[in-house]
Amino acid sequence: MHGSVSRAELIRGRMMPAREVLRPPHSLPENAFLDQCDRCDKCLTACPTHVIRHDAAGFPRLEFGSASCTFCSACAEACPTGALSQDHADVWNVMAHIKGNCLSFNGITCRACDENCEEGAIRFRLMTHGRSLPLVDETRCTGCGACAVICPNDAIDMRQTQAQEAVP
Ligand code: SF4
Ligand code: SF4
Ligand code: SF4
Repeated sequence: MHGSVSRAELIRGRMMPAREVLRPPHSLPENAFLDQCDRCDKCLTACPTHVIRHDAAGFPRLEFGSASCTFCSACAEACPTGALSQDHADVWNVMAHIKGNCLSFNGITCRACDENCEEGAIRFRLMTHGRSLPLVDETRCTGCGACAVICPNDAIDMRQTQAQEAVP
């Protein structure tokens, strides 16, 4: 889902704030997800890239420190409870956010994220003093996390940036 969500929509309860913990693709909105998921670990076992880890309570979360998501849907296919399912609309809305410790932004030549992005979603705007500002194109970024995995300075966070639709 793309497009902005108004404060009025949030107040009316039609939308829920963006997640702080990222769940696998095709997850239910957060409260429904926590209700449905029985922490069976079948999604963790099914994930070929091992990007699914446990959160503090044992629910599956995505950690992009050393792995990315290929959107293969193996996790949703393995889920027995419907907490993850291709049958309901995805509420993914995840994209890369580049932080101030980016090497390029601080005058050290680096294009690793750009080179590892198959979507061509990252470009650089030249600045003064040999610095370059990395910009993520939200229309191209899929939220796969490949850039975060390759970044040598841990300068990329993956975040859900928009509100998600509430369960009807
Ligand atoms: S879609 Fe595939 S790669 Fe992504 S979290 Fe699910 S099983 Fe892992
Ligand atoms: S890989 Fe990391 S340090 Fe390098 S340009 Fe991209 S965000 Fe900056
Ligand atoms: S999350 Fe994936 S698509 Fe988005 S900028 Fe990073 S590598 Fe490119």
